[in-house]
This record gives sequence, structure tokens and C-alpha cells, in this order.
Amino acid sequence: NPFAGARFLRSCAALAQLPDDARPELVFAGRSNAGKSSALNRLCGQQALARVSKTPGRTQLINLFEVPQGRLVDLPGYGFAKVSRELRSGWGELIGRYLDSRVNICGIVQLMDVRHPLMPQDRQLLDWSVRRALPCHVVLTKADKLGHGAAKNALLAVRRTLAQVPGVSVQLFSAQTLFGIDELRERASRLLAS
Ligand code: GDP
Repeated sequence: NPFAGARFLRSCAALAQLPDDARPELVFAGRSNAGKSSALNRLCGQQALARVSKTPGRTQLINLFEVPQGRLVDLPGYGFAKVSRELRSGWGELIGRYLDSRVNICGIVQLMDVRHPLMPQDRQLLDWSVRRALPCHVVLTKADKLGHGAAKNALLAVRRTLAQVPGVSVQLFSAQTLFGIDELRERASRLLAS
């Protein structure tokens, strides 16, 4: 597993705190509760790696993890209704500026609950990745929550919907059963190397 040695680097509250180098950054994003932390922990085979992103006060920050091939970037979950409007716009602004200006970004891993894929903010981030001509790998999480046939149908439906979108791939994943873990590692590895 090329991600086994991942280690937390730092949390950034401003773009100026980001490392000043050319290492590729693979961005992990998704709605709150989509299963992003669980997927990151599983990807790296570390129980509590992304826990740091969830500690109060760090949840609005850009969290960076070093891996041999570059960095994994854990963005705060979007669409969390309980966050105040003021906080929401402030946090959106940091992320917006990171996404628009950071040249290190080599791709996006977008996590969506397989039962609620392609919500409006998911589409926004997809549109953004297309505009920046960055590859986007969609991970449909919690596949264990659906039966085999239903999960497969959901995968095919999302693939069909996104068939015309350039640079997009889609897979099923379960942090519980580890279904799809090899595919996730392969894709993430390839995106970091591209
Ligand atoms: P995040 O907010 O996107 O980081 O989501 P978390 O990784 O914290 O997961 C949110 C909730 O979904 C937690 O209760 C997890 O245990 C649960 N969860 C995450 N991934 C899976 C999965 O693959 N299968 C199941 N059944 N539950 C999951």
C-alpha cells in the first residue's frame, strides 16, 4: 500500500500556510458525513489518521497529509446545515481560493454516499474540476448499505449521468467491508503520479 506511511503534516487556515513547493496534492472532498474520514483512514490503513481533521477547531481547515508520492488534502465537508451562514461563507471562501489558485492540485477524489449521489454541491465541485481540466474520481461510499444489485445499479446510473464529463471515473467503496479499496488505492496513486 503506497499510502501506508501517510502522516499528518498540518492544518491550514490561510493559503499562506500551505507548503511552498511543487509536490502534487490530491484533494479529498465531499458532503459532511459522506464517509471521507473513513475512506482516508482506510486508504492509508491507519485507524485514526483523519481524526485530526475532525477535532473541533480544525474542521474548517485545510488538512494536509504527506505520502511518498505527494500530499493528500482533506477539505472540510460541505453542505453542513448546522454551520452558521457566516461561517459557511468564510469556510467556502478559503476552500474556493485554495481550489482556484493552488497549482499543486493534481486531481480530486469526490466522496458521495451511494444512496444520495450528485447533490447540488457535488455538481458544483465537479463543474469546477472540469473548468480547471483536473481529473475527478468519484467514490460512492457506504456501498454495504445497499444490496449488491442496488449498489451496482447506483454505480451504473452515476456513470451514465457523468458519461459526457471529461476526466471523470466512478467506483463503489465501503469502509466497512473494504469493498473497492484496491481500486481506490490504484486510482489515487495514478492521480498523484499524473
Ligand atoms: P465524513 O464526515 O465524510 O468524514 O464521514 P465519516 O467518515 O466520519 O463517516 C460518517 C458516518 O458514516 C460515520 O458514522 C461512519 O462510521 C459511517 N460510515 C463511513 N463509511 C461507511 C461505510 O463504508 N459503511 C457504513 N456502513 N458506514 C460508513
